[in-house]
Amino acid sequence: MDFSKPKRPVDRVFLHCSASDSEAHDNIETMRRWHLERGWRDVGYHYFIRKSGELEAGRSLEKVPAAQQGHNTGSIAICLHGLKQEKFTKAQFDTLIALCREIDNSYENQLTFHGHCEVSAKTCPAFDYKAVLGLTEAGDRKNAPASEPQRVEQPILELTAKGAAVAHLQALLSEKLQIDLTIDGHFGQLTKAAVISFQRKKGLVDDGTVGRRTWEELLS
Ligand SMILES: [Zn+2]
Repeated sequence: MDFSKPKRPVDRVFLHCSASDSEAHDNIETMRRWHLERGWRDVGYHYFIRKSGELEAGRSLEKVPAAQQGHNTGSIAICLHGLKQEKFTKAQFDTLIALCREIDNSYENQLTFHGHCEVSAKTCPAFDYKAVLGLTEAGDRKNAPASEPQRVEQPILELTAKGAAVAHLQALLSEKLQIDLTIDGHFGQLTKAAVISFQRKKGLVDDGTVGRRTWEELLS
C-alpha cells in the first residue's frame, strides 16, 4: 500500500459505507457512475474498499472529496462497501486499518479519523469504526494495533509465545489457509492447530513449532 500525501492540506479522514450489500455495486466504478449521475465531476470518495479487502482508488487525493457536505475541505474520504453491520468483512477492516495507519504515519499522527455520522444525521458508516480503528473520542488512533506485522522478525515460535511476531504468524496463517484465525498475538491451541495443518499441507514436520522452514513457506 503506497500512500503519498497530497499537496492540499489535510487534517481529517472520514469513513463511509456504500449503503449497499449488492455484489454488483462492490466496485469504485459503480460509485463513480452514481456520483456522475448526480452531476458531480467524479466519484466523491478517494478510496473504496471491496468486501474482498481490495483497495480501489477513486477521486485524486489532490482534489477535495464530495462526501461530507460542509466538511469536505481538508479531508480524505474512504468508503467501505456495505450496508448491514454484520456483512462487512475482516478483509475490509484489515485493509482499512493498514490504510489508516499509513495515512496517519505520513502525517506524523497529526490527523484524526471520523465517521460521516459525526457531521451528518446519516448512519454512516454502518459499522463500529471506532472499535475497528481503536479510536479515542477525539478520533485519535491511540488504541490502534501498534505493530507493523510486515516488519517484525521471524523467531522460532511455539505454544504460549506472545507478541508482534505471533500476530504476523496468525495473519499469514489466516491468509494461506483461508481461515478466520484471531490475530491477537497469543500463540494458543488454535494457532498451534493452524500451524500443524499448514505444515501438513506443505509436507513439513508437523510439530506445531514455527521454525525457519515453516517461516520460509509462510513467507513464500
Ligand atoms: Zn457517508
